Order: sequence, then C-alpha cells, then structure tokens
Amino acid sequence: HQDRSSDGICPMNPSIMLDAVDIVKELGQGAGKVRALKGVSLELKAGELTLLMGPSGSGKTTLLSILGCILAPSAGSVTIAGERADGLDAEALAALRRRHIGFVFQSYNLFPTLNASENVRLALDVRGIKAAETIARAEAALREVGLGHRLKSYPRNMSGGEQQRVAVARALAGRPSVLLADEPTAALDSENGHAVMQLLSQIAKDQSRAVLAVTHDPRTHAYADRILKIEDGLIIGDERRAETRENITKIDVKKKKRKANG
Ligand code: ADP
Ligand code: MG
Repeated sequence: HQDRSSDGICPMNPSIMLDAVDIVKELGQGAGKVRALKGVSLELKAGELTLLMGPSGSGKTTLLSILGCILAPSAGSVTIAGERADGLDAEALAALRRRHIGFVFQSYNLFPTLNASENVRLALDVRGIKAAETIARAEAALREVGLGHRLKSYPRNMSGGEQQRVAVARALAGRPSVLLADEPTAALDSENGHAVMQLLSQIAKDQSRAVLAVTHDPRTHAYADRILKIEDGLIIGDERRAETRENITKIDVKKKKRKANG
C-alpha cells in the first residue's frame, strides 16, 4: 500500500475500493462495554453489489458506520480508494467521508421542506460545490434513478420508493467510491423494494464504485454479486454469486419474450 498513484488509488489493485483489516469496535462504557466488532476484515471491489446479512445486534450498523467514516474503529485499519481512514481526527475523517462515501438509510432522511432537487443539492452544497454545478449534478443524479420528472416534487407527495430513490440520487451525486446502504428496502413494499435493489445493482455496475447494503430481506439476494454473513461481531460467511446477474438477464429476456408473444 505504500506506492500510490496521484489519484490515490492503490496501483497494485485499483479495483479494491475499500479495504478493512482486523476491525475491532468497543461501544459503551464500564460494565456496559460491548465488543460490537471482534476483528472484521473485508475488501469491496468496484463493480460489485455486496449484501451484508446477520441477526439483529450482530454489528451490521456499527460496521457500516466504520466503513463509512462515521465512527472510528477501536483497532484495525480502513483504506478507502487508497486513502487511510484510521488515525484521522474527526474533521479529516469527515472530509474523507465527503470525498468517497455515499450513504442511504432505511428512513430516507430527506428534508420535508425541500423538493427532490434541493434535497440532492444540499448534499453538494456541504461539499463546497458551486450552485450552478449543484443544479446540474442534482438533475443528472435524479435522472439516473428514474426521477427526472420529479425534480420539483416534495417528499410528502412521493411514494416511499420514490423517496428512497431521491436518497440514492443524493448519495450518487457526490460521486462516491463506496455507496453504503443500511436496510434500504426495509420500509418498502415488494415492488418498491425490488426497484431500489435493481437500482443499487445497476449503480454497482459502474466500474469505479462499490456498493454494500445491509439487508434482512431475502428477496434482495437475487441482485447480489456477493453475500457476507455477520454474527456476533465476526464475518462467518462470504459467498460469491457469479451467475446472479446472468440469471436476472435471462429472466428479463424471458419476460420480454412472453410480453412480445402477448
Ligand atoms: P445490528 O445493526 O446488526 O443490529 P449494531 O451494530 O447496531 O447491530 O449493534 C451491535 C452491538 O453493539 C449490539 O450488541 C448493540 O446492543 C451494541 N451497541 C450498539 N450501539 C451501542 C452503544 N452506543 N453503546 C453500547 N452498545 C451498543
Ligand atoms: Mg442495524
């Protein structure tokens, strides 16, 4: 990892967007101290959608917060797009987060008084991007998630699925190296859940981006390139699903044929 190219990507393996080694995290204090993560290592590759599954309390949110530079680990190292995240002070960590991370939450976290475009622009404003560019980038991101016709709509006038797509657009607009999602389909009905997963898998196909989504929802499996299982603060499973994308394509083709045949 010593030799970096000027864009910060490790020249040894530029497809590794995130590299976490031996992450330990202790939460709480005194008698209430909990070892939420007990030595987690993982790499995320550009072009892949990885799912993180595990029971409640297994450490999923804690891990996502550390990978997303919201929390600092108690021990271990995190490298994002070639930049070390551990050992940074809060300000430097936040700057790294703004440069490289996009977050999507179960509860969307949109501002009710801002329309879709303004919600996305707000995330760009805090990055110091000029107003004219924030307008163009917000519009492009909303088109990318299929909401080009909803630029001026307010959250209260959108379905849960549409609101979550605005949240995905907001994360995308920052051009993240790593997109992290914490149970992004948990509040959605089946159809909207599938639409959001489809969108995340499409976003992951971008060869400069890795996507990691925490999920309990077995319907999301079909969209995954890889499924990680976590239990009691440790990764206990890592399964690659090489044919998944092909299968989805085959299903789509069958559906289209069926439609074409009436
Ligand atoms: P998950 O997202 O998989 O449900 P979390 O990462 O939220 O799990 O929590 C992992 C463990 O850490 C749990 O045992 C939880 O009770 C504990 N925990 C989470 N946050 C705190 C905190 N602020 N203080 C003490 N313990 C915590
Ligand atoms: Mg959680």
